[in-house]
Amino acid sequence: MILTDFDYARPAALDEALALLATPGARVLAGGQSLLPGLRTGAERARLLVDVRHLAELRGVGRAGGSLRIGALTTLAELAAHPLVLAEAPELAAAARANGDPQVRNLGTAGGNLAAAGRATDLPVAALAADARVELAGPAGRTTLTAERLAASGVPAGSVLTALLVPAAGPAAAFEKAADRATRYPLCAAAVRVTPDGPRIAVTGATPRALRLRGVEDRLRGGPYTTEAVLAAFRAEPRELFVPGRGTSAEYLGHLAGVLTARALARAALSTA
Ligand SMILES: Cc1cc2nc3c(=O)[nH]c(=O)nc-3n(C[C@H](O)[C@H](O)[C@H](O)COP(=O)(O)OP(=O)(O)OC[C@H]3O[C@@H](n4cnc5c(N)ncnc54)[C@H](O)[C@@H]3O)c2cc1C
Repeated sequence: MILTDFDYARPAALDEALALLATPGARVLAGGQSLLPGLRTGAERARLLVDVRHLAELRGVGRAGGSLRIGALTTLAELAAHPLVLAEAPELAAAARANGDPQVRNLGTAGGNLAAAGRATDLPVAALAADARVELAGPAGRTTLTAERLAASGVPAGSVLTALLVPAAGPAAAFEKAADRATRYPLCAAAVRVTPDGPRIAVTGATPRALRLRGVEDRLRGGPYTTEAVLAAFRAEPRELFVPGRGTSAEYLGHLAGVLTARALARAALSTA
């Protein structure tokens, strides 16, 4: 598997990166943990790689209003261990910790994991449960998008994801994953946040992409979040929501999603007790 030919640019400023991304076939390169293997196998194509790893605007983790601002270049390893993220967005830290292996976590970035479309990945599901937004810079200027919108439609063409904005939860949030043994990607992963308005629940792997399960949330509003109640709430979901594959049935995946959600709710409750 040999890399095809492409050009490479290392812009020193975000505006320069955006100008380069207007080139047909240009792609953002961050940690390269999805893009480079994809280029080797031919699953991905690029005429120009725009390496954003030196852009200061994409770095740093800190508070911004009532949210955490997590720069897109924050590595998964940094995210998993950052004290602010552990304290205020524990589902995100756990999703980063569950991602791949140490090499992938040391090079792979939060922005890249959120942007890598077409495969179930760990951070988007945690971002959905957190009701997070992403900051984007694009040809039309700066904007923000909900993580839910990003999961549905991807990063708009010619744009750079600059940061993830996560409302602080305290510890009432958790993430659980059943990893595919061969790839470490989620066979199914569930993230939850317990809010005064009820639980927010998101699932990936078992579903076609990271999804908020509002039907399950409605059935569980008011509690209690017992395993029986959670499994019953999942059984009431349409079976078509769960995509069979790799030797798993829709029924199995629906049950697995319920089990992981019940565990995540129990973990979130324990951490606030
Ligand atoms: C062995 C292995 C195991 C893995 N296991 C898991 C796993 O268990 N769970 C999981 O979720 N993932 C897993 N991954 C995927 C890995 O976590 C992601 O590939 C990584 O997080 C992507 O980040 P990156 O910085 O390397 O992105 P890159 O590979 O550089 O880019 C990925 C995609 O995102 C785009 N992109 C990157 N950054 C930005 C940005 N700031 N703005 C706009 N677009 C951007 C790129 O153009 C490209 O399309 C695994 C990968 C490997 C190689």
